[in-house]
Amino acid sequence: MATTTRTRDGYVLWFTGLSGAGKSTIAGIVAAQLRSVGAPLEVLDGDEVRTHLSAGLGFGKADRDTNVRRIGWVAGLLSRHGVGVITAAISPYADVRGEARAMATNFVEVFVDAPLEEVRRRDVKGLYARADRGEIPNFTGVSDPYEPPAAPEVHLYTDRETPEESAGRVMAYLRQRGLVT
Ligand code: ADP
Repeated sequence: MATTTRTRDGYVLWFTGLSGAGKSTIAGIVAAQLRSVGAPLEVLDGDEVRTHLSAGLGFGKADRDTNVRRIGWVAGLLSRHGVGVITAAISPYADVRGEARAMATNFVEVFVDAPLEEVRRRDVKGLYARADRGEIPNFTGVSDPYEPPAAPEVHLYTDRETPEESAGRVMAYLRQRGLVT
């Protein structure tokens, strides 16, 4: 008897936002929830990518663009083969996020939005204080631009939502799109 198999569509959950906005925190919760339902998943964390895939790249526009293009390319390959991918890099430039979108199967842009005053107040890693002292050149939000997404699939407000609420909204979007059951 003939059988048909249909693999589930992959997708790219592309978190973008300022340093300290909550990308890694929310991505971690979403990843745990996706793993608990047994969905195939890869996480391309911004810091890990810079250690491996993009070792040696800096934070000027050209190097940032190269970093984001590499993430987009790998995410595109994986998503094309039915894997769910989570990326959590600042990815400050709208045009290069657009390139990543074009390479992906089911690109879901998640804008992790927090006002600059809020991420400065959190200053999780002390980076804003160091940037203010001029110790970190090209620091997004301080001495480098951040271009917010014009039409993200999911817009999270981490100054008004708990990380669990934000993660729940991402999961709800994936279910609504039929990307996760
Ligand atoms: P990013 O990956 O965007 O640089 P992180 O997730 O590393 O940011 O850090 C965000 C920090 O903000 C964490 O310390 C987290 O506990 C805190 N935080 C406070 N409120 C929220 C929220 N609603 N969503 C996400 N993170 C939050």
